[in-house]
Amino acid sequence: MTSESQPLATRRQDLIARLAKPHQYDVAIIGGGATGLGVALDAAARGYSVVLVESHDFAKGTSSRATKLVHGGVRYLAQGNISLVREALHERTTLLRNAPHLAQPLAFVMPSYKFWETPFYGVGLKIYDALAGKAGLGPTEFLNRRQTLQCLPTVRPVGLVGGVKYWDGQFDDARLALALARTAATRGALLVNYCAATGLVHENGKLVGLTCEDGESGQAYTLHARCVINAAGVWVDEFRQKDGEAIGRPVRPMVAPSQGVHIVVDRSFLPGDHALLVPKTQDGRVLFAVPWLGKVILGTTDTPRHDLAREPSPFREEVDFILRESGRYLSKAPRREDVKSIWVGLRPLVKPPDDDADDTKGLSREHTVLVSRSGLLTVTGGKWTTYRAMAEDVLQKASEAFLLERARSGVTTHLTLVGGGPPEGERQRISDAPGLHSYGSETRAVLEMPGAENILGGGLTEGMVRFAARHEYARTVEDVLARRSRLLFLDASLAATLADRVAQLLEDETGTDPQKQVFLNLTRHYQELPT
Ligand SMILES: Cc1cc2nc3c(=O)[nH]c(=O)nc-3n(C[C@H](O)[C@H](O)[C@H](O)COP(=O)(O)OP(=O)(O)OC[C@H]3O[C@@H](n4cnc5c(N)ncnc54)[C@H](O)[C@@H]3O)c2cc1C
Repeated sequence: MTSESQPLATRRQDLIARLAKPHQYDVAIIGGGATGLGVALDAAARGYSVVLVESHDFAKGTSSRATKLVHGGVRYLAQGNISLVREALHERTTLLRNAPHLAQPLAFVMPSYKFWETPFYGVGLKIYDALAGKAGLGPTEFLNRRQTLQCLPTVRPVGLVGGVKYWDGQFDDARLALALARTAATRGALLVNYCAATGLVHENGKLVGLTCEDGESGQAYTLHARCVINAAGVWVDEFRQKDGEAIGRPVRPMVAPSQGVHIVVDRSFLPGDHALLVPKTQDGRVLFAVPWLGKVILGTTDTPRHDLAREPSPFREEVDFILRESGRYLSKAPRREDVKSIWVGLRPLVKPPDDDADDTKGLSREHTVLVSRSGLLTVTGGKWTTYRAMAEDVLQKASEAFLLERARSGVTTHLTLVGGGPPEGERQRISDAPGLHSYGSETRAVLEMPGAENILGGGLTEGMVRFAARHEYARTVEDVLARRSRLLFLDASLAATLADRVAQLLEDETGTDPQKQVFLNLTRHYQELPT
């Protein structure tokens, strides 16, 4: 099944006009990250009427800041969480099939410097293969020293004895979020970015809708819905508290945010097609070096963080840890001056109701769905890879709680996302430098935009900027350079040089202020290393 046709227009006036029309929705969703967008698509595909409001841009929160792995989670296997790993491996296959332009298989190598490491980790990975069953992407292989160096030409050779190669996937998180939004829109869902949910509407102790505000005009709206879904990531507790106050039942926060830092360096630090996994760093963590869009992502960390900053800052120890550990495994150790971009995401981890401890590493990566007395359905936790299974679970819980009439489930298992149809020409890898390959079967539509041949830099063309404004909900320079193109995440200084031109094009397309200065300030944040 495919949802492909002509790209749908995302003109803001039209979206706001629909928002303003009185309507009784089946489902209203707060939050346009992986979780909310996944629910919007599933609900729309089942035939429910759906509205989703996002306070900033789609995927502006955690969902653009992942390590970009579509994975079962080798680490969770080591923790004995078999059901989570099995579900994620199944979802990995589904995602790779439904969005092949944005999610693809990737080979990983764990280099061994001690004779016991290859068999020790190899056996664990064989179990990983076995759990994947038919969903496996390729067999785990034991490599000798020569083969390991072939896969990872820049791995530190001194003391290297061999390695283990296994398969997982990688993806472009922000563009996948957009693909979910756009596919949901083709199924009739109304999705509006820069429109924050501001309150909940209760009648006789029951939740009947929400209020929201258009961030551009300041205009307020009330949306009525049978089922209100709180998918605001690390920010879910705000709405749980509002709900609790309205019905006189105070709630305890459920989210324990944990910050993860990524550093991006040039591909010369890890050329080739393989990612590197350090299964146990000196302080017992996991570290990845992943080739992505022509660069290499190094990360990540797991640090409790109590404030909920929109753009969290990395800690000095986190940067030191990533650079130090990368330097132990790469023959050319990355230094602070090699960093092209640094970004931080907040994991919405769910803590048990009686847990006030500060160690987030031990917290489950599974998702949680709660339905309050008034009917507010909150979903958080989990991971990007399992967004689709989470959405199914949410809608199942909604019908069990009699918020929605039961509708056929499993409708997204074989639903091709926008751009996921057959490519025109050979499919390129996500690890290749940015360019048209991210558009998949929409490549022709992008090439037909005015200015398609006008290259701005970093793989971005004038045509792509116009496409972003007309069909991908882009409003600001940041929307284009951080999430339609991923340049802010790849090379913040290069992204800054394009801001002027992108701002002019956006202004021409939308007629509104594209917030160039805000973006320029952000590019500094993405280059700033803590001292
Ligand atoms: C460092 C790091 C690395 C990760 N790596 C991976 C990985 O490699 N693979 C993987 O599968 N998973 C990974 N994850 C997990 C994955 O990224 C998250 O589970 C997922 O993105 C969470 O999505 P979400 O929609 O719940 O949250 P978010 O993406 O944060 O979305 C919530 C949205 O709600 C919006 N919102 C908040 N308040 C309001 C309001 N008042 N009105 C409207 N909207 C509102 C926010 O703006 C935000 O966009 C990683 C996470 C981190 C932090």
